[in-house]
Amino acid sequence: MTAEIWDVVIVGAGLSGLSAADLLRKRDGSLKILILEAKDRVGGRTVSKEFPAASGVDRWDLGGQWVGSTQTHVMELIKELGLEVYPQFSTGKKVHHMGGPASKVRTYKSNFPTLSPLVLMDFIQFLWKIDRLCATVCVRDPSQTPNAAELDGQTLHSYIQQHVWTAEEHQWNLRSSPTVISVSSPQGGTQQLSERLADRVGWKNVRLGSAVTAIWQDAEWARVTTATDTFLCRAVIVTCPPHLAAKIQYEPALPTEREFLTQNMPVGHMIKFIVTYQTAFWKEKGFSGEIAAGASTDCPFAVTFDATSPRGNAALVGFISGQQASLWASKERRSAVLSSLVKYLGPEAASFIHYEEKDWAKETYNGGCPVNVMAPGLLTYYHPSLRMPCGRIHWAGTETATQWCGYMSGAIQAGQRAALEVLAEVSQVVLNEEEREVLQQSLPVQSPAKPTTSWKLTGKPALVLPAAQRL
Ligand SMILES: Cc1cc2nc3c(=O)[nH]c(=O)nc-3n(C[C@H](O)[C@H](O)[C@H](O)COP(=O)(O)OP(=O)(O)OC[C@H]3O[C@@H](n4cnc5c(N)ncnc54)[C@H](O)[C@@H]3O)c2cc1C
Repeated sequence: MTAEIWDVVIVGAGLSGLSAADLLRKRDGSLKILILEAKDRVGGRTVSKEFPAASGVDRWDLGGQWVGSTQTHVMELIKELGLEVYPQFSTGKKVHHMGGPASKVRTYKSNFPTLSPLVLMDFIQFLWKIDRLCATVCVRDPSQTPNAAELDGQTLHSYIQQHVWTAEEHQWNLRSSPTVISVSSPQGGTQQLSERLADRVGWKNVRLGSAVTAIWQDAEWARVTTATDTFLCRAVIVTCPPHLAAKIQYEPALPTEREFLTQNMPVGHMIKFIVTYQTAFWKEKGFSGEIAAGASTDCPFAVTFDATSPRGNAALVGFISGQQASLWASKERRSAVLSSLVKYLGPEAASFIHYEEKDWAKETYNGGCPVNVMAPGLLTYYHPSLRMPCGRIHWAGTETATQWCGYMSGAIQAGQRAALEVLAEVSQVVLNEEEREVLQQSLPVQSPAKPTTSWKLTGKPALVLPAAQRL
């Protein structure tokens, strides 16, 4: 098998991989960059699809959708690509039904449900506490945060249990009305961010249907393998989420800290659904379309929002997680979603045009969504391995971001940071002060255990390839 030679190979054509490629291209036009993507499309956890709608057909997002003004990396990209954003509709009554089927269904118009003064005080003191705590966190190296081990030893749920006094507030899902705006354009949807980045990088440099199975390194090359091809390069950027990065075979094996980290970062299980309607009947009845419900035996979703398109096609979007996502059959879920919408918004909800749900756990090369999280205790000891390059391998993907980790903006930030690492290593281009600062800020204060000699990139090859696998 003859190996192709590239300067940089990027694993994954989601926002992170394509942002990395785009920055590399912009900063050093002489670099040969190849993106290998397992799926038959770009966009990863963003996918925009057309469904039957009031005007015939329209496009909605089944993955990442909302962006906000503090998400600077994605906002800059949207601006750069000349795309439009439109505000999330949130005017009107919001439905609040926490505490199970027997509890009272409430509605409210402000950003918070109507609460008793005691519960409101409790809520505000809790928000202050969280804000003060956030200000003490060392993002670059969380182990430097005061009480790091104690904080990292608990879940958000156990923290809430400890720090709120009122029973009602324990049921809060820490969600308020989204001060978010949806990405839009004539075509609509967030997947076009990746499609347009691929236009810029050049589709000839993006190979779809190319799942990477192995990455081998020696002193001279990184050797990236798919089922049919082999590529030699000077640097690799792996952008797939940690549980998928762990499925790639590495030689030499990755440091134990890195392996332990990826084995203990499970991915969530969330289903997103869209229901399209002839008219936005909820708006006519004074509802915003926002429902916060404690998922139960009756109601499978936790939250819904208005998703009427910029072209005016009426729709609702919602999210299902927990056992309703993992144990319920799809038919059962759909009928419970519709009967719950009828219960909260009225009988008109039963006359829908189209129901679509996407179970990301069933999609190959995802296995869940929206993001991988660290088990308690992991951050304190294994965090440095999250971004620390392993020889020629650099790590990106939203899970490695230091701002808006888990979001599209984080994916872009992480991809751009990994691109700078690669530029510093394989390009003649000199990084400017701002770029050097970005790299400095992403490095842990305390390094993990020193890499073994097999990770040295110069000197005697650490990995001697069998003759048949050499060029
Ligand atoms: C339902 C849902 C709702 C969300 N809502 C929002 C939201 O409203 N706002 C927001 O900001 N974010 C949201 N997110 C999160 C956001 O979509 C992600 O953070 C972001 O898209 C991640 O980008 P990424 O490039 O880091 O990873 P990915 O998009 O996962 O890209 C990784 C790519 O690697 C590929 N890959 C995996 N293994 C291999 C392999 N072995 N070889 C080659 N390729 C491989 C995958 O196919 C994928 O294309 C949501 C996500 C989901 C699923």
